[in-house]
Amino acid sequence: MSITPLMPVYPRCGVRPVRGEHCHLIDEDGTRYLDFASGIAVNLLGHSHEGLIGAIQRQAATLMHVSNLYGSPQGESLAQRLVDLTFADTVFFTNSGAEAVECAIKAARAYHSHVGNDDKYELITFKNAFHGRTMATISASNQDKMHKGFLPLLAGFKYAEFDDLESAKALMGPNTAGFLVEPIQGEGGIRPASDAFMQGLRALCDDHDLMLVLDEVQCGVARTGKMYAYEHYGIEPDIMATAKGIGGGFPLGACLATEKAARGMVVGSHGSTYGGNPLAMAAGEAVLDAVAGEEFLAEVTEKGERLRSRLEQFIGNYPELFDSVRGKGLMLGLKMKGESRPFYVHLRDGHQLLTVAAGDNTLRILPPLVAGDAEFDEFFDKLSAGAASYQPPEAA
Ligand SMILES: *Cc1c(COP(=O)(O)O)cnc(C)c1O
Repeated sequence: MSITPLMPVYPRCGVRPVRGEHCHLIDEDGTRYLDFASGIAVNLLGHSHEGLIGAIQRQAATLMHVSNLYGSPQGESLAQRLVDLTFADTVFFTNSGAEAVECAIKAARAYHSHVGNDDKYELITFKNAFHGRTMATISASNQDKMHKGFLPLLAGFKYAEFDDLESAKALMGPNTAGFLVEPIQGEGGIRPASDAFMQGLRALCDDHDLMLVLDEVQCGVARTGKMYAYEHYGIEPDIMATAKGIGGGFPLGACLATEKAARGMVVGSHGSTYGGNPLAMAAGEAVLDAVAGEEFLAEVTEKGERLRSRLEQFIGNYPELFDSVRGKGLMLGLKMKGESRPFYVHLRDGHQLLTVAAGDNTLRILPPLVAGDAEFDEFFDKLSAGAASYQPPEAA
C-alpha cells in the first residue's frame, strides 16, 4: 500500500506545527515560525488566546453538543449578536465556509422558488473566485483545476469578469437569481472590488428583484478593519456567507440573510447536525467579545495602514521582485513580478516566515489581528532577509 493515511489531496510541506504561541507556531523539532498566514485568515486572535481557550474549556465541560431538534439559548444569543452587528435579520450556523456558501446558494434559489419562480435558479459568479470545495461551491467557480475529475458540475452558474459590471450585466437573463461575489477575492489574489462595481451589483439586484450574495468567508470578521467588508462599499447584501475568522480556529461558519431573502428557508428546508452546537457558539461568542468593538476595529485599520505603508516602502527596494501592495486592513497582498509560490516557499523554509501564496502572482499577508509592532518588526526583518537572499526560479 502506498497511499498515505491522510488522503493525499494537499501538497503538505515540511513544517509540522505542534504548538502555537500568540503570533508564532512551533513545529515538531522546535523551530519557531512567525505566522502571518493565520491558518488562512482563521486565527484572528493568534494562537493560545486565553479568552477563546477559556470559553471553549468552560463550554466543553458544560455542554458540547445537542441536536437542533431542541431549543438553543446558545445559538439564539450568537445569532442575535450577528443580527445586531450586520444587515441581517436571521442566521444559519454551519461548520465551514463551503457549507455557509452552500446555504447562501440554496437561500437565493429558494427566495425565487418560494413564490413560484422555479426558473430563477442561476447565480452569476466571477472568474477566479473561490467559494469552497463542495460540488455546489466548485461549480460556482470557473477554476478548472478544482473541476478536474469531478464532472458533471452542478447546473446554474455563469462566470463573469470580476470587477466588471458590464460583463455581469451581459450574463443576466430570465433564469438569473442573483450574484455571488467575494468583495475582496482572497484565493484569487487579494483583489478588492471597486466601489462602482459593488454598488452597481446592488442597483441591478434592486432593479430586477435579484439576490446579492456575498462570500465574506475570508474577508469578513474584522479582517479588513470593518466587521464585514461590505461596509467599505456603502451597500448591504441580501445574503452573506461568513466563516474562517468567526471561530478563531474553532470550526464555525454562518449564512446570514435579511428576512425577505430568507423567505424560502422554511421549516424542513435545510439543516445540519453539528451546525450551531453549544461548543461552536461559545467559540463564536469569545471571538466577537474580542473583535466586535469600535476600538478593536479602529486598531485593525490603523495597523493595516502601518503595515501597508511599510510594505510599500519596502518593495521600492526590490522593483525587480515586487509589483504592488493591495488589499484592505490586515488582508494584504504583495503582487510579485513573477510567480509568488517559490518566494512563499523561500520565506517559509529559509526564513521561518509563514504567508500564503495566491492567484495572480500574489503573496497573501494575513497576520493575526492581535499582531503588533514587535511582530511587524520581526516580519520586516524576515521579509528583508528573504528578499535579499531570493533567487527567482528563472534566474536560478
Ligand atoms: C476558505 C474560503 C471558502 C471555503 O471555506 P471552507 O471552510 O474551507 O469550506 C469559501 N469562500 C472563501 C472566499 C474562502 O476564502
